[in-house]
Amino acid sequence: MLRYGVVVHGGVGSPAAWNDGCERAAEAAFRLLETGGHALDAVQAAAVILEDDGRYNAGSGSTLRLDGATIEMDASLMDAEGRIGVVAAVRGIKNPIRAAREVMNTPHVILSGDGAAAFARSRGVAEPHPGPGPRAQERFENVRRALGGRTFDGLAEAWRNFDLRAHWNFDVPYEKIFGHGDTIGAVALDREGRLAVANSTGGASPMLAGRIGDSPIVGSGFYAGPSAAVAGTGIGEEIIRRMLAREVHDAIAHGEEVAAACERAVARFPESVPVGVIAVSRRGRAAVHNRDMAWASKGKEE
Ligand code: ASP
Repeated sequence: MLRYGVVVHGGVGSPAAWNDGCERAAEAAFRLLETGGHALDAVQAAAVILEDDGRYNAGSGSTLRLDGATIEMDASLMDAEGRIGVVAAVRGIKNPIRAAREVMNTPHVILSGDGAAAFARSRGVAEPHPGPGPRAQERFENVRRALGGRTFDGLAEAWRNFDLRAHWNFDVPYEKIFGHGDTIGAVALDREGRLAVANSTGGASPMLAGRIGDSPIVGSGFYAGPSAAVAGTGIGEEIIRRMLAREVHDAIAHGEEVAAACERAVARFPESVPVGVIAVSRRGRAAVHNRDMAWASKGKEE
């Protein structure tokens, strides 16, 4: 049995070489848990560290949209008492997770776009975003090189059933173009048995303005209930269709072991869809993923 603990991930697709950032975040969260802190504070502390890291696709490291200039971020927090705070497609702020935490103290669950940014300013949690970092520029450069100068107008019929992936001949791997990944999440169980989850992301790639993934959608990218706290990562549209986080929670609630519940949920996705999930409950903690994924965990067993 787990007395208290935390699991943190750096997004499905992130290399194990980035585990150090997740370890730092897990350490900070664990220190809070050790001293009697609330699970919500622990996951938020982990998320802030990863938002500020710059390598992960969240906060300062967020991915650029298709215009190569716009950054829109999603972040969410939830605890097992049903308190939820979410910001979606928010621009210009360094730590969307702090804004999400403030939303928890309103009658609302989700604030989006300009309203979310103005709200963050009014609550004093709108430290300015530093602008696209080197990782975001690199990701966007991959998209630009692959898509730039190519038009499918007039060729639509010929291309419709063409297996582009099988014929890919750019230096940049195909998977890096239609990407996802490096988003961040954290789940925690505290000494009082309270469960919480946090998610933060700059989205997937490529993305239109206004696109919102699973990370701010309750039951899909995140869920905390009486039995577990769960965070997902991967192609948001696919995760939303399967309501990944709620499925894992409910399986654990019905008696399945934490790792088994995560494994079964990940196995429901086709092999072509990258997906990862982390979960914590009183019965244990797990991280399951079908691609590389940086992650870290710290816990105190009974
Ligand atoms: N799930 C995120 C999204 O689709 C991306 C990720 O997990 O990396 O917005």
